[in-house]
Amino acid sequence: MTAAAAFLPPAHTALFLSAWERVPGSPVLPLYCYSAVGWREGTFVVPALRVDPDVRQDVVLFDEQEIEQGAERMLARFPDNRLVRHLVENCVRSYCCPAARNFVLGRWEAPLPTSPACNADCVGCLSYQPGDEVPVTQPRLTVRPGADEIAEMAVWHLDHAPRPIVSFGQGCEGEPLLRGDVLEEAIRLIRARTRRGTINLNTNASRPDVVHRLVDAGLDAIRISVNSCRPEFYERYYRPRGYAFDDLVRSGRAVAEAGGTVSLNYFMFPGLTDTDEEFEALGAMIDAAGVAVIQMRNLNLDPDLYVEQLGLPSSLAPGFGIDRWMRRVRRAFPRVRFGYFNPAPED
Ligand code: SF4
Repeated sequence: MTAAAAFLPPAHTALFLSAWERVPGSPVLPLYCYSAVGWREGTFVVPALRVDPDVRQDVVLFDEQEIEQGAERMLARFPDNRLVRHLVENCVRSYCCPAARNFVLGRWEAPLPTSPACNADCVGCLSYQPGDEVPVTQPRLTVRPGADEIAEMAVWHLDHAPRPIVSFGQGCEGEPLLRGDVLEEAIRLIRARTRRGTINLNTNASRPDVVHRLVDAGLDAIRISVNSCRPEFYERYYRPRGYAFDDLVRSGRAVAEAGGTVSLNYFMFPGLTDTDEEFEALGAMIDAAGVAVIQMRNLNLDPDLYVEQLGLPSSLAPGFGIDRWMRRVRRAFPRVRFGYFNPAPED
């Protein structure tokens, strides 16, 4: 017998994980989501939903030749910009990051990584893992871009791209709020030069005081990452240093009260997400933090490691189902919408 699982493309959320049995001495699996796979009418199928109709990361829309031409154009346009150089040389050419590729193609959402450091220690961090048992998929950037470098590329993108968004907080960095002063200055520079598009922050939302300052400078939207809305499960996964779960709520509220958009980057895990206790906690978070969008992200982690880290029973009971969970959220919170990506200005 051979084990099988599927890794889903962006915009799709798994409803069930693959069944598994741990063999003694087996290594920790790499940082992917292990969706179940089936066979129907002569082809493989997965139990998953497309949760966002936006095509911004659909693989068929990326042409390798156009990407390379775009990369060369960006290097020529911004010859002294270290952020652009990082995006081209590492993110586009080495990590094949769809957001960086969209930047060089001049469309949609562009990434603004800025921070090599973090104040959390997530078990499934994509940019830092202790030791070499689990490979990181996007090592952290080594430069610390200045406000002028950030603003230079962000203004160009916001002024030229269709449905433009620029987002701090990327897979290849730590926590952007640790560079709050630089982000604040960059946002002021951007908004002094263009009103177009959305300035978004993907974050662990650990510093509400800094979020307040960024909102005053012109931040439009925030995406707060959580694996669970229950502090005890959040803390066992994020292992926060110097902040508490309530700081996430206060950060969201700071953006919502200023009229901005608050998204939850919610790591789905069947058996945890779709339980009554987690649903209650999510509801409290939606109300308290002003959440308008739930981005249904797959948790990219060895499921055994996750269950063990959170202190859940090793034979985790099934939840009531992710599709039923969506229906319950819709009924209880009709103004909250589901998605996968940060909403564009027109959405
Ligand atoms: S908050 Fe982000 S960068 Fe920091 S440890 Fe967690 S996943 Fe990694």
